[in-house]
Amino acid sequence: MAEQTIIRKASHPRVAPNLGDYERECARFDWARAREQLSGLPGGKGLNIAYEAVDRHVAHGRGGHVALRCIGRDDRVRSVTFAELARRTNRFASVLRRLGVGAEERVFTLLGRCPELYTTVLGTLKNTGVVCPLFSAFGPGPVEQRLRLGDARVLVTTEALYRRKVAASRDRLPCLEHVLIVGRRDADLPGTLGYEEAMEAAPDEFTIAPTGPEQMALLHFTSGTTGTPKGAVHVHEAVVAHHATAGYALDLHPDDVYWCTADPGWVTGTSYGIIAPLTHGITVIVDEGDFDARRWYRILADEHVTVWYTAPTAVRMLMRATPREGPYDLPRSYDLSALRFIASVGEPLNPEAVLWGEEVLGLPIHDNWWQTETGSIMIANFAACDIRPGSMGRPLPGVEAAVLERGENGRAAVTDGRVTVIERPDTEGELALRPGWPSMFRGYLHDKVRYDACFAGRWYLTGDLVRRDADGWFWFVGRADDVIKSAGHLIGPFEVESALMEHPAVAEAGVIGKPDEVAGAIVKAFVSLKPGHEPSDALGRELLAFARRRLGPAVAPREIAFDQNLPRTRSGKVMRRLLRARELGLPEGDISALETVESAESGGVP
Ligand code: ATP
Ligand code: MG
Repeated sequence: MAEQTIIRKASHPRVAPNLGDYERECARFDWARAREQLSGLPGGKGLNIAYEAVDRHVAHGRGGHVALRCIGRDDRVRSVTFAELARRTNRFASVLRRLGVGAEERVFTLLGRCPELYTTVLGTLKNTGVVCPLFSAFGPGPVEQRLRLGDARVLVTTEALYRRKVAASRDRLPCLEHVLIVGRRDADLPGTLGYEEAMEAAPDEFTIAPTGPEQMALLHFTSGTTGTPKGAVHVHEAVVAHHATAGYALDLHPDDVYWCTADPGWVTGTSYGIIAPLTHGITVIVDEGDFDARRWYRILADEHVTVWYTAPTAVRMLMRATPREGPYDLPRSYDLSALRFIASVGEPLNPEAVLWGEEVLGLPIHDNWWQTETGSIMIANFAACDIRPGSMGRPLPGVEAAVLERGENGRAAVTDGRVTVIERPDTEGELALRPGWPSMFRGYLHDKVRYDACFAGRWYLTGDLVRRDADGWFWFVGRADDVIKSAGHLIGPFEVESALMEHPAVAEAGVIGKPDEVAGAIVKAFVSLKPGHEPSDALGRELLAFARRRLGPAVAPREIAFDQNLPRTRSGKVMRRLLRARELGLPEGDISALETVESAESGGVP
């Protein structure tokens, strides 16, 4: 089985990894020392995310270093230095101050990936406001829902997005006072201001007000994979974790050129698309263009990208474009020699994908695990450490993770407020984390009950099922909500999906439990096929037999259906709950995060 495969790694000759000796680093790490890596506001006036991401580098003589390399849809490239970014973010902070927008007030963005997004996010943080980036491909309903839930006072968007997604609901959003329009603005767009005009009228200088580490900074809605999205609140101190974890898990070094494909509408796109790389003072690629394998390879080569952070859905798109069976002409026609590794997050990374990376690209793919709630990477594969394909890796220094015994409903069993930690290796249970790291969410906005329900026995309960092997590596089993109970067995969808993906015809798979009188539930698989393969009864039978050989009859799917468009969230995750609802004819629930053709075309993944 794939679990026994270990990819041995000698460290990359070009770079000494930030985390060489895992055990030693974990033993000596503490968060107070991690905080000393950052400088804090001058005069001891607290800790501000934007200061650490931008101004600190200017103060240390790196103002001329390129902070952003923005690649337009037309492939035009614009560079923004740290000094220029400091000036622009000062101006935007001043714009807000002049509008009377104060500390902890919510500034939303509804923008594609563009330089103004960076200016807005960091400028808002300088003004000690709270920033909430929305994914630009959300429809009007989901946009209104989130603006209302988050008490938006300011929105920064474009004319086209405003007209299509906000104008009709504006009257129903009385707290939304100011709308700033980036780019061209029609004269008769009432109730809006021009972003550029406001920026031009603002001064270059801005003094950041004292910022308490517990001051609210970021509001992030979860992906909505399991239900209604929750607004997770993060504070300025989170930057300590953004910085430290990016050093360990993304192995950032001062001369790196780094690219994160996630949209800032998702936590990855903010924590690791904006904040963490900039706190390391490195160059960040901002791609305004579409999701496309050829375009990605070209940017990776042309920009000499050294670290690429993406998601399994993007890796699977590359796999579709260049199957492991060959030929490898597409990646071989680009010079990817600067790239040290690819990191992946958001969904389980199937072992097949890791093996594909080794074979086709000659590159390690490092899975890592975290959530909107955790604010930063918690469990990861590291540059200097071996890879066990299919494992999400080991907890980062400073992170204490445990596997908890489960109760009836599949979640951790809580008796009199107490839980039981499983010490025996290779036993499935709910993944729990000991609270105390700086980027831990401080609440779900307006939902204390749901927040309180996340904790038991001094642990934060993640809702994900995992097992830990005897050497301390964590293996994802599935979300507690997705786990299937069949004839007394508990089946994790990830294992079944990964086995199906080992078949050369299968591009992607989503697995659900379908009620069955005898077994309680049977496993049903939905698969999409790679180019050159057509659905047929014969292929269906072949896939079922293939899975049975790999998994055994108790775990293998009993039914299979072909579906070239598996439902997924706009952050790229397969929505098993929707597959289940459709299969059983049940209500679809909250589908505000469901990807539509429009969002996929506008680069909606991951
Ligand atoms: P919602 O909470 O609204 O249902 P969501 O959980 O998908 O949506 P996110 O916070 O974006 O929202 O995603 C975190 C979840 O994504 C994790 O709890 C886990 O289920 C999954 N995930 C993230 N990284 C990995 C990984 N490397 N392997 C497996 N699953 C992962
Ligand atoms: Mg979640």
